Amino acid sequence: MRKKIIAGNWKMNQTPKEAEKFIRDCKEKVKSDKADVVFCVPFVDLAAALDLLKNTGIAVGAQNMHFEDKGAFTGEISGKMLAEMGVQYVINGHSERRQYYAETDQAVNMKVKKALADALIPIVCVGESLEQRKQGVTVDFVRMQVKIAFKDIPAGSARKAVIAYEPIWAIGTGETATSEQAEEVCAAIRQTIAEMYGRETAEVLRVQYGGSVNAESAAELFAMPNIDGGLVGGASLKPEFAAIVQTAGV
Ligand code: PEP
Repeated sequence: MRKKIIAGNWKMNQTPKEAEKFIRDCKEKVKSDKADVVFCVPFVDLAAALDLLKNTGIAVGAQNMHFEDKGAFTGEISGKMLAEMGVQYVINGHSERRQYYAETDQAVNMKVKKALADALIPIVCVGESLEQRKQGVTVDFVRMQVKIAFKDIPAGSARKAVIAYEPIWAIGTGETATSEQAEEVCAAIRQTIAEMYGRETAEVLRVQYGGSVNAESAAELFAMPNIDGGLVGGASLKPEFAAIVQTAGV
């Protein structure tokens, strides 16, 4: 049975001082022995988060990385740098990065490969736009994103990754996919992994749903057979995050 994973994506929120206060206030409430809990924080908050979350069982993740170890890439941070700090997870291919920073499927593939090589767990984001959903190509589009993101990655590495299905129209909009819509695509993602790597890998790899998850919607979403938890944006910055984590443990 797959352990649920609830990751909070803080996006570009919380200065180091704010992060410190926030973590001190909430860390006891978001601890769980039933689900993996991850705080994906801005780069400048990583040091404080790692320090404050030591020995709590709550993991720390970054929100992006470069696919090279080092070099002339001004403003970038490598997976190797994150791993050396003790960071365990990294979000790859979030739709906001694809949309605002022109991150391509090929770049996402290079990042996922590098994250796994650096012993980081990539949270690989995929998801369709509203237009694609209206055109009826959601499953085809998401399957393509998964195939490219995992191109040339062996099964032994791929099984460690997490895939987050995040329909773009549901991110930060307050509009959550229904549990049936989310389950349909998460099942298709698992089927794609099964076709690429075999059923055993597909049964191990965790698939999250993300897109305006809140304390009300979480229980129904996480009860779906192919939804192994959530990637939570806005609600991860509120006390509500603790209730979402507790839902995953039921
Ligand atoms: C996200 O940032 O990945 C996300 C799902 O955001 P929100 O929960 O705010 O829609």
